[in-house]
Amino acid sequence: MAQAVSESDFEQFLDTIRRFTREKLIPAERDVEESGEISPEILQQMRDLGLFGMTLPQKYGGLALSMAQQVRATFEFTQASAVFRARFSTTLGLASQAILFNGSPEQCAAYLPKMASGEITASFALTEPGAGSDAGGITTHTKREGDDYIINGEKCFITNAPEADLFVVMARSDPASTGASGISAFLVEAGTPGLTIGRTDRKMGQHGSHTSNVFFDDCRIPASALLGNEEGQGFKNAMAGINTARMHVAATCVGQAMRLIDEAVAYAAQRKQFGKPISDFQSIRNMLANSQADTLAAKSMTLAVAQRIDDGEHPLGDMSCCKLFASEMVCRVADNAVQILGGAGYMNDHVVSRMYQDVRLFRIFEGTSQIHQLIISREMLKDAAA
Ligand SMILES: Cc1cc2nc3c(=O)[nH]c(=O)nc-3n(C[C@H](O)[C@H](O)[C@H](O)COP(=O)(O)OP(=O)(O)OC[C@H]3O[C@@H](n4cnc5c(N)ncnc54)[C@H](O)[C@@H]3O)c2cc1C
Repeated sequence: MAQAVSESDFEQFLDTIRRFTREKLIPAERDVEESGEISPEILQQMRDLGLFGMTLPQKYGGLALSMAQQVRATFEFTQASAVFRARFSTTLGLASQAILFNGSPEQCAAYLPKMASGEITASFALTEPGAGSDAGGITTHTKREGDDYIINGEKCFITNAPEADLFVVMARSDPASTGASGISAFLVEAGTPGLTIGRTDRKMGQHGSHTSNVFFDDCRIPASALLGNEEGQGFKNAMAGINTARMHVAATCVGQAMRLIDEAVAYAAQRKQFGKPISDFQSIRNMLANSQADTLAAKSMTLAVAQRIDDGEHPLGDMSCCKLFASEMVCRVADNAVQILGGAGYMNDHVVSRMYQDVRLFRIFEGTSQIHQLIISREMLKDAAA
């Protein structure tokens, strides 16, 4: 994606995001954790800042940030609870990118401006009870009836499903197909008869971010809801957003690690044992230093790969390296932070305890660590086999 925002304009935006994170998001974290909801005021401020449309071109009302700018912005707002980012992640990520790159002009015009402004929230519905890493194994299916499709099936773990106005749904349109072929993407609006949302899941962390099952029971949609008006392109459609999704998760892990380090440093400097600050003990310093080196490594690789994407490359294996390394890294950093805080770090009252639970997700969704290892090694061996 070409850079459409000048560096000086972007620096101003970054400054605004930093202040918003420090003055609004971080002070609201505890309330979100306890109530399980982001307040309407903060939600509106996130919309006003353009965060829902960070990845979309200006012609649809988006901010048109380059990938490097997107990850630099993400480093900032993800120093606050990951729940804030989760609220707009599905809209700016897989859902909007699938429409942007594959939608008909009518579909783009109907949905993208509303997604960019945050007027509507979109969810991306791929995972099913029987198909997670093996996404080609989905069984949700459609049947063509005149000018309509009828969808039947069940999706699970769908982020923002309770809030969503629009679902980008992956379903098998060719009943004879197996694997990734024969799967199509459909744009299904909330409220369509036959579409129901399950109860909100109770999760290990990220409590203000909501996931749930989505059920399709003879859900009738017009043929015009087929993304790109072409069947069998579902996985190609989904791949369009994969750059954004992987790089954004990597950048989120960096932001979370930066915050964890800030918390650990502040605690280590003031907590006294044996008559001196625990930061005087070399073993505490070693944990801080390892966390810092880990974070810098993930930050550097994420920026470098983002720049290569802006330069027109599609470094599939290296994007997976960023997602794999950054998500494993932030869990090590969170573990060190809990250790540095001792018993206080185990108490739910402290932010590092919450973050330890929040960051565990990043090794699981948007492709598990094991799946990214498969992708990386497949890319490495591709040339050797040729
Ligand atoms: C909070 C949350 C939000 C989510 N949001 C969404 C969403 O918005 N939309 C959506 O569609 N999905 C979403 N997901 C689903 C997520 O993408 C899947 O959980 C993930 O892809 C893993 O699938 P699974 O849970 O079925 O695990 P499985 O695929 O059953 O994996 C279980 C274990 O087996 C390993 N494994 C599987 N296959 C292999 C293999 N070939 N080689 C080696 N190891 C393997 C995995 O790495 C893992 O360790 C979300 C999940 C969570 C927890």
